[in-house]
Amino acid sequence: MEAYAEHRTEDMHHCHLCERITYKKIPGKEIGEKWICIDCLRRLKEVLDNLEKWEEELALGEEMEEQIEKDLGI
Ligand SMILES: [Zn+2]
Repeated sequence: MEAYAEHRTEDMHHCHLCERITYKKIPGKEIGEKWICIDCLRRLKEVLDNLEKWEEELALGEEMEEQIEKDLGI
């Protein structure tokens, strides 16, 4: 029974992002030392897919800030 429990624990993963405990049957990946479940990986992928657009927006925001500073004569 104890050996079974130990084996079971080995199959269990604790998702680092959503804190959900996943079993072997729930897909996930070990990234570095952290286990990330499929749902969080999907969310991460969405973020990464939008990363370029996001960076453009950030750059645009910085430009606007600079322009405002110029306009204000700072
Ligand atoms: Zn997760």
